[in-house]
Amino acid sequence: METIGHADVVVAGGGLAGCCAALEAAEHGARVLLLEKCAGLGGTSRISGGAIAFAGTELQQRQQITDSPSRLLEDLRRCAGGQADEKLLAAFVAEQAQTFNWLQHQGVRFSSVQLGSGQSLPRSNRVDAAQMIDALAVNINRHPMIRVMTSCAIRELHEDGVVVDDDGRNGLIKTSAVVLCSGGFSRNEELIRRHAPALARAQRAGASSCTGDGLTIAEARGAALLDMEKLSSTFGRHPAASPDENGLLHPIYKGAVAVNVHGLRFADESQSYKVLGDACLQQPQALVFQIFDHRVMQQSVSDAATSNFAAALADGRVIAADDLDSLALRAGIDAARLRGTINRYNQHAAAGHDPDFGRSSLANGNGTLQPVAQPPYYAYPCTSAILGTYCGLATDTAGRVLDTAGNPVAGLYAAGEITGGFHGNGYMTGSALAKAAVFGRIAGRHAALESAKAPA
Ligand SMILES: Cc1cc2nc3c(=O)[nH]c(=O)nc-3n(C[C@H](O)[C@H](O)[C@H](O)COP(=O)(O)OP(=O)(O)OC[C@H]3O[C@@H](n4cnc5c(N)ncnc54)[C@H](O)[C@@H]3O)c2cc1C
Repeated sequence: METIGHADVVVAGGGLAGCCAALEAAEHGARVLLLEKCAGLGGTSRISGGAIAFAGTELQQRQQITDSPSRLLEDLRRCAGGQADEKLLAAFVAEQAQTFNWLQHQGVRFSSVQLGSGQSLPRSNRVDAAQMIDALAVNINRHPMIRVMTSCAIRELHEDGVVVDDDGRNGLIKTSAVVLCSGGFSRNEELIRRHAPALARAQRAGASSCTGDGLTIAEARGAALLDMEKLSSTFGRHPAASPDENGLLHPIYKGAVAVNVHGLRFADESQSYKVLGDACLQQPQALVFQIFDHRVMQQSVSDAATSNFAAALADGRVIAADDLDSLALRAGIDAARLRGTINRYNQHAAAGHDPDFGRSSLANGNGTLQPVAQPPYYAYPCTSAILGTYCGLATDTAGRVLDTAGNPVAGLYAAGEITGGFHGNGYMTGSALAKAAVFGRIAGRHAALESAKAPA
């Protein structure tokens, strides 16, 4: 096969993990080749909600939120139900604060902090995801040690390099270290059927290029897979949302009540949107409505996609009415049952506890229950989606890919959504982007150090 290039480090995939890996490897002296299957950088990271879970940030301090790495660690452990790799969590927590600063230094603008699912206090440091990728891309494009090949997909790993499909032409790129950052497999039906048959009714979301290429390539080299059986869906996507848009809204975490088409609640709405996601799929038509009132609408946040209720109203995705009966009629919900459900919920909210489903807070123990009683009323129809796959390659704390015997696969690293072992049984908002950035940098750095030791 024709050799079409050489690099100390090849990074495959130009989402957040890949951009961070490329920059970090170059900062450690490596000549880097960043391969991206699509015409531009960004992947799912570009269309994400931009909530990044970092603890102890200056943004949190400005909002008088006292967070710490140890509290972040506790939350990650709790969300994972004790099923995450402790060493990965420790490595993440040790580097997350400097990664927040590093991203800022790269020109990524953080705007505000919001409370997210699984967080014991507000920790979703918000970015405009497109701005984040654009800022990193500017630095990548002007870095003398980084070359970018777009419309170029990694296809195979060889002893001495990687085989790529460069816009229809196969070629070998020689290298001693490869960092796989090709994202998840939410857009690969065959892999979803194999690993998550229970999620057949869930929408698919994420960049169309996220078809699990890196996972399949590494598996063929003996890499171990972790957490595949833990794949779950995320609650709160509008049924008409396209796979390539965010489309998530969570008024539940500001006080909305979730009902099915029969007007009946089915869960404690303060739980993780992963738990709610799978519960939603059990409802008729996998369709649920988040019902809220003027008081919740007033808490709309313009720079936080999942809390931007006003924008969803303006887009026609939120249905409005002056009373509950009219709302039910417009949304197609059983009106009498909806009225009964809301009246009952309001009585329980006044008492501070809901004996029906055990809700006692707005989100993960934060905030007190409020009645849904101030017109106008709103309904947000939604379902669940596979947003990310959050399971995959086994890696160690240096980002090295491990085989089924627990040994590193020579010269192979991975970071971001392609990896498993980090989220365990659950998921904390913002932990996917944070993991992509932190482990992208870790893997890039170690790949650069390994390539420096390789014979010329
Ligand atoms: C709608 C939505 C909202 C989300 N919101 C949040 C949020 O607010 N906070 C959060 O933490 N997480 C969020 N997530 C999850 C998060 O966005 C992803 O887990 C994260 O962006 C993954 O980053 P990554 O760099 O690993 O992968 P990606 O960003 O997906 O990048 C992978 C890249 O690899 C490329 N690629 C694929 N195959 C190949 C190949 N063979 N060769 C070369 N390149 C290849 C792809 O084209 C892509 O550019 C959201 C996900 C979705 C779908």
